[in-house]
Amino acid sequence: MQAERMSHIPFSGIRQILENCSRLESQGRDIVHLEIGRPDVDTPDEITAAGISALENGAVHYTSNYGIEPLRQAIAEKFRTDNGLLYDPDSEIIVTSGATEAVFLTIVSLVDQGQKVLVPDPAWTYDPAIRTAGGTPVPYPLDPTRGYQPHLEALKDRLSEDVALIVLNSPHNPTGSMLEQESIEAVRDLAVEHDVLVLSDEIYEKIRYNGRIHHSPAAFDGLSERTITVNGLSKAYSMTGWRVGYLGAPASLVDPIIRLRQYTSTCAPAMAQHAGVTALQSNAEQQLVSAFASRRELVMKRIADVPGMSCPELAGAFYAFPTLPAGFEDDETFARDLLEEVGVALVPGRVFGETGRGRVRIAYSNSAERINQAFDRLETWL
Ligand code: PMP
Repeated sequence: MQAERMSHIPFSGIRQILENCSRLESQGRDIVHLEIGRPDVDTPDEITAAGISALENGAVHYTSNYGIEPLRQAIAEKFRTDNGLLYDPDSEIIVTSGATEAVFLTIVSLVDQGQKVLVPDPAWTYDPAIRTAGGTPVPYPLDPTRGYQPHLEALKDRLSEDVALIVLNSPHNPTGSMLEQESIEAVRDLAVEHDVLVLSDEIYEKIRYNGRIHHSPAAFDGLSERTITVNGLSKAYSMTGWRVGYLGAPASLVDPIIRLRQYTSTCAPAMAQHAGVTALQSNAEQQLVSAFASRRELVMKRIADVPGMSCPELAGAFYAFPTLPAGFEDDETFARDLLEEVGVALVPGRVFGETGRGRVRIAYSNSAERINQAFDRLETWL
């Protein structure tokens, strides 16, 4: 028995792969994990130490629904210096239990029953929140021939009176692309013309290569008043298990979100919020990013060496989204056989949307040695 709305909420597409990995590993098989989107190192010591110290000093109670004041101050400062965004730490910033909760709260508080939300295709999983709100996700394709920039004509075609929100995500999961300034300006013009809100998911902001510049949509004229900027500590500081995310938005948009926030997780874990202050004031992300930079080079080279496999140059995050090797058409069959036969775990592209068919997502958040093993196994298998 379940509520009707749950019929639209499936188990995540990655779950089946994880279960298959566990089954094979329990049989003693060695699996190279290139399916999981999380850094493979632990949280930097100075951040962990701040969390332990906070615990020892009594950070074990509820905090404000907005989050602890020093963290909101640190987030406001980060938004100002990194993104050129001025948010009032008292009324325009909310600390959440991961960016996942920030996305969920934003969508459920701002999208009405029957409204549409435009979501990139391919994309990470925004659909369950939209379905929970009673809305309908409408995918707009990203164009692989233009570095996965939004297909503007398709976006335009999908805009109608019942669209409440457009989702942007840069750096992008699963393609590793980043939004260019011109794309944001074009989306801005459409959002203003049709009076829709924008949710900008910037969780991979810190992970970028070759000096690529990150543009926060909310910093563009016309978008500041209609954008909710979501970010978090999971990826840049290897803090996925601490559950600290955040959002910034004008007070009028934060108002409904904070009311709902009281009734979800109430607050992010108190000790994790204290550790978050240290994270934001550190440069700890730099080490992680330089480790990813060399793996990115490696993965691009190894992809280019496999006949049929290709992807646009990787700009940010730690994902590649290449086409399948020559001779393969079905991403699901390819990923299943590769796992069963040679123990390499990837995610079939269709999990991320129709545009993902015929591609796979490779998360290069694993060591160079393991990445090489995966491609060696793939090449021998081919
Ligand atoms: N947005 C994107 C694009 C993601 O890939 C993820 C995690 N995989 C999240 C948001 C959520 O991250 P968290 O809840 O750990 O902050």
